[in-house]
Formats: sequence, structure tokens, C-alpha cells
Amino acid sequence: MIIAIDCDGVLADFVGGVLDALGAAHTHEDVVCWDIELALGLKRGALAGIVSRPGWVASLRPIDGARDAVDALRAAGHRVVCVTTPWHTSPHWHRERHAWLEREFAFNSRDIVQCGDKSLINTHVLCEDNTRTANAFASRGDRRRAVLIDAPWNRRDAIVAGVTRVASLAEVAR
Ligand SMILES: [Mg+2]
Repeated sequence: MIIAIDCDGVLADFVGGVLDALGAAHTHEDVVCWDIELALGLKRGALAGIVSRPGWVASLRPIDGARDAVDALRAAGHRVVCVTTPWHTSPHWHRERHAWLEREFAFNSRDIVQCGDKSLINTHVLCEDNTRTANAFASRGDRRRAVLIDAPWNRRDAIVAGVTRVASLAEVAR
């Protein structure tokens, strides 16, 4: 199978990088909705300011267990591609994200897709932490399945038929 995996919130600890930059006493559990600025009471535009800093994308930490999960999926014979939506206003995002995926997860250029509309992706499976994206992917039919990686920011969301909620990417690899 061809398995598409989202980056932020699935491979890369995006929220952790935001919390580090804020230096505030918040945790991942405080981000209870997709809108981080709303969840943490930040000023509008604060997030764009953080993620656009040079080196910020490159500094993100891989999510615990994600490397092993990707390795296991590859070892099982699946083609794993990363499909990630860039922060298009950041002048650094594309280049840093590409280099990060090569360095941290050994993706090659053929298997990295940076696009703003994941409904264009035609893989068998999409692993995501964004409920809206997962629901839209599965709703297209043609037997495509989405896997929603559980996170505090999607826990309250309803999922549609064709979407399975799992605790982590490791569960997909099992
Ligand atoms: Mg994501």
C-alpha cells in the first residue's frame, strides 16, 4: 500500500515547538482545539510570528515512537509518503521541512509532498491529526481510509465512516 502521513502532530511535535517558543507554562493538553491561538489565549498573529522564525521548523522534535512506526511500515513493504501543508507565509518553511524530513525520517524527495489541499492526494491511507482533513479524505469514497491520530486538539471532534481513531502512529504499524 501507499500510506500518506501528515507531518505536524504526527511526525513532528509542532505544538511542542510552539510551547517552547512561548516559554509559558502550558502543556499539549491545554491545546484542546485546532486553533492554538484560541486555546492558549494568544494574540492573533502570534503563531505566524513563531513558525516563521528562521530555524524554527528545523528545530522541531520528532514525536516519540514515530520513527519506529515509519520504519515498521517501510519494513512491512509499504511506500510511506509524507504529505504536509506548508505555512505558506513563512519564507523558511518549505526548505527547512524538506531537510527535516530527510534528516529525521530518511524521506527522499519523491516521497515528500508539500501541498495545501490533501484531497488531491490519492494514496490508500492518510494518517492525520486534523479531523477535518481526515474526514474529507475518507468521505471521497473509492475505498480510501483515513487514520486520525488522537491528540488533545481533535479529541472532541466527530469522525465520519472510513476514519479510524488511533492512539499513535505505532498503532498503524502494528
Ligand atoms: Mg498535522
